[in-house]
Amino acid sequence: MIKGNQLVPFFYTFAESFLTLIQILFMSKHQSEINAFLKKVEERNSGEPEFLQAVREVAESIIPFTLENPQYRDARILERMVEPERVVMFRVPWLSDNGEFMINRGFRVQMNSAIGPYKGGLRFRDTVNLGILKFLAFEQVFKNSLTSLPMGGGKGGSDFDPKGKSDLEVMRFCQSFMTELFRHIGPDVDIPAGDIGVGAREVGFLFGQYKRLSNEFSGVLTGKGVQYGGSLIRPEATGYGCVYFVKEMLGVRKMAIKGKKTVISGSGNVAQFAAEKIIQLGGKVIAMSDSDGTIYDPAGIDDRKLDWIMDLKNNKRGRLAEYVKRYKADYLDGVKPWEVKCDIALPCATQNELDAKDAQKLVENGCIAVAEGANMPCTHDAVELFHKHDVMFAPGKASNAGGVAVSGLEMSQNSLRLSWSREEVDLRLHDIMKNIHATCIRYGKENDSINYVKGANIGGFIKVADAMIAQGHV
Ligand code: NDP
Repeated sequence: MIKGNQLVPFFYTFAESFLTLIQILFMSKHQSEINAFLKKVEERNSGEPEFLQAVREVAESIIPFTLENPQYRDARILERMVEPERVVMFRVPWLSDNGEFMINRGFRVQMNSAIGPYKGGLRFRDTVNLGILKFLAFEQVFKNSLTSLPMGGGKGGSDFDPKGKSDLEVMRFCQSFMTELFRHIGPDVDIPAGDIGVGAREVGFLFGQYKRLSNEFSGVLTGKGVQYGGSLIRPEATGYGCVYFVKEMLGVRKMAIKGKKTVISGSGNVAQFAAEKIIQLGGKVIAMSDSDGTIYDPAGIDDRKLDWIMDLKNNKRGRLAEYVKRYKADYLDGVKPWEVKCDIALPCATQNELDAKDAQKLVENGCIAVAEGANMPCTHDAVELFHKHDVMFAPGKASNAGGVAVSGLEMSQNSLRLSWSREEVDLRLHDIMKNIHATCIRYGKENDSINYVKGANIGGFIKVADAMIAQGHV
């Protein structure tokens, strides 16, 4: 028989078990709904692992949210968002320098235009396929929404790789690519920009051909040269924005970038300017990479060495291995930078370049923060490990949104026929990154930690979802 004074602990035990049971029931309802949703998406998009990975990562936070907010579930918003509004796929014929007939495949995925015209980069790389571009376009929808600017989401590109091609070959390819693409884009329809393999040179050739075909000078592309409508700070924006985001994350824990050892993957556009901003804020960049290997410079890559890397990559189009011939450093052939002990890791190269093994290494080495400069560079398992070990983790759709944000500002300047100063654009970029961070906290706060993945997904989803509901079943 239970006596009076035994009733209190008995009651607590009973209440705790009851609560756990409710939680399990709730969790399993969430999980079964997520599984059923993913199964359908898999059936319809087989052979597109990157797209499925991106959808899964979003579904895991959005489906529980839509169960609590049934207006989104009833309108089947997420089901609609995983279907592109339109996909264009086309042949790109061009001539090599020695007169060979070359053929590549071009794509544009117009994913979602609920909150503005389609907006997203073009990627030129031999590995490009429809699934990769769908993943990038899907991510872009959430990212663009997070910037709070009126931009829908899209992405495009080709399996053409500019590496090893002459300037004239790249120009002929870009002209042929745009000869088809131009009929599907426009300053109020779809505004492409750069991405891997598409930098200032390619954007220039693409813009020239669009202007010629359409007979209009418009803001149809962003990332243009400043002489012809480009925005100051656009080349810097993704890398700078990523570091501004890290600054905010560290600030939550009363920490700063100053003195922090940082490793960065890649040595392209995003990596270069992430490195520049880390150096400006007093951090120490000790490793960078390209697709061949990593340079490890324990003394730190300073401004002078970074200028040399920029010249090597942007003008001479050389390999990073050459760094060790010039400066005292180690070259780790075929190795990713995650082996190097650091406080901050910034994956700024490509998707799935940081897996669970790499994440484990970073955790063991005491890394405190990881922010994605690239799109989906960390695998699902790697992100879980970061969460488990309380490593601050920023998903790309939040931390690399600075690039598209300044692209949005370039569109505004083009419409206004104005050019803002460096300081003005940088200030706006900084404010946008702070706001995205605040949005992540608003929707991602969990007990005493912040789940930035959940925060970015829900924060990006709501605006698009509300616009879709307002516009009817289209
Ligand atoms: P770049 O082409 O300028 O640079 C890419 C860098 O990543 C190069 O150093 C390249 O090495 C390396 N890289 C590419 N593929 C691989 C691979 N498979 N393994 C290892 N390294 C690789 O591209 P960006 O800097 O513009 O883009 C980098 C990432 O950032 C991409 O994920 C892109 O989608 C994302 N991003 C870019 C934005 C932008 O504004 N540019 C905006 C938002 C996101 P190598 O020289 O050997 O080719």
